[in-house]
Amino acid sequence: MNLIEPAFDLADPRTWDNVGKPWPSNEQRMLTCCRVIDETHDVRTFQFRTDDGLPVRFEPGQFMTVSASARGRPVERCYTISSPPTRPYLLSITVKRVAGGVMSNWLHEDMRPGCRLQAYGPSGTFTPTVSSAPKLLYLSAGSGVTPLMSMTRASIDLGLDRDIAFVHSARTPADIVFQKELHRLAALSPRLRVFFVCEGTGDEPDWTGPTGRLNLRLLAERIPDYAERETFTCGPAGYMSAVKKLLDEGGCDPERYHQERFDIAPPAGFEDDIVAQTTFTVRLARSARSFTMNASETVLAAAKRNGVAIASSCSQGVCGTCKTKLIEGDVDMRHNGGIRDREVQKGFRLLCCSRPSSDLLLDL
Ligand SMILES: Cc1cc2nc3c(=O)[nH]c(=O)nc-3n(C[C@H](O)[C@H](O)[C@H](O)COP(=O)(O)OP(=O)(O)OC[C@H]3O[C@@H](n4cnc5c(N)ncnc54)[C@H](O)[C@@H]3O)c2cc1C
Repeated sequence: MNLIEPAFDLADPRTWDNVGKPWPSNEQRMLTCCRVIDETHDVRTFQFRTDDGLPVRFEPGQFMTVSASARGRPVERCYTISSPPTRPYLLSITVKRVAGGVMSNWLHEDMRPGCRLQAYGPSGTFTPTVSSAPKLLYLSAGSGVTPLMSMTRASIDLGLDRDIAFVHSARTPADIVFQKELHRLAALSPRLRVFFVCEGTGDEPDWTGPTGRLNLRLLAERIPDYAERETFTCGPAGYMSAVKKLLDEGGCDPERYHQERFDIAPPAGFEDDIVAQTTFTVRLARSARSFTMNASETVLAAAKRNGVAIASSCSQGVCGTCKTKLIEGDVDMRHNGGIRDREVQKGFRLLCCSRPSSDLLLDL
């Protein structure tokens, strides 16, 4: 089949400049829920529109930090925008109910059409604009399907028909999120291949797909050219480390591997450091406030202790919500991918994973 050469590509950031209005990641807006969709027994999609009703600009794979007063206390959590930026009037998040989890249960129980939710603008670097590779491998598990779904939907909506091999792992067939839609998209797009791996068959003994966990033999059998592909992977920590090991064994180039984690480990090495008990002064340029802090604390923790309100979510250098410009001074920042090199070069830092090594002046 001959494809029309597209004017735009997923990998070209200009594609997204043309769609929707910017919404800065440090700016809160109100969203109104307009639809709730049951995806599986414990996963729901919540669709929102903005107050002004105007389209929003974002890149496929990015997330929003949502804030709510859930169970009587303020909570902020990150959720990937599962809808594609090619449909910029409605922003969807697809949330798995986590046992004992504050925000996911609150959303599942209380979020209904007409309800309002506060959110920060789209953020995150797990997007296809980091690579223009012609062949892609999307690997996800559980709710980690959401960023890859946004990327896949965007590719189809743009008529790109990108060469995507999408492998999703789930506990049982009943836990596969977006199963029908992914099959439908694969039927539309000859170069999108989708397959699901289930740990067990659960209540569906007729399941004919592969069972167990994803392994190299299965991957090589289904996607023989997997090592040639740029890989994007998202899921729980255990899955991510197993996938990384498997791809390393399979000879995949680590430079062509991109990942997003939903559950976050402390940045490597940070927790073990012995930091001298030195005290530094932090001045806030815009509010003319100041406080002192110990070198062993993160700037975010010290700011909160001193009553300074700073938007934050993951506290692990992933989500980028607390990104702030450092006007003077130095910090030791150990992030988990929540800030781009060019932002660091412009002086921005993530306060949640930065400890001071001098007095600081922040653009706050
Ligand atoms: C960039 C990013 C994107 C994400 N995108 C998505 C997405 O698209 N969809 C999605 O479903 N999730 C996503 N997440 C995960 C999401 O942000 C939340 O972490 C998840 O919904 C759980 O939040 P919660 O408030 O329900 O649970 P939490 O209240 O944070 O609890 C999480 C777990 O910890 C346990 N716990 C909580 N407090 C304690 C305690 N004091 N002692 C012991 N255990 C405790 C709970 O029982 C629960 O098992 C994303 C995360 C990131 C970082």
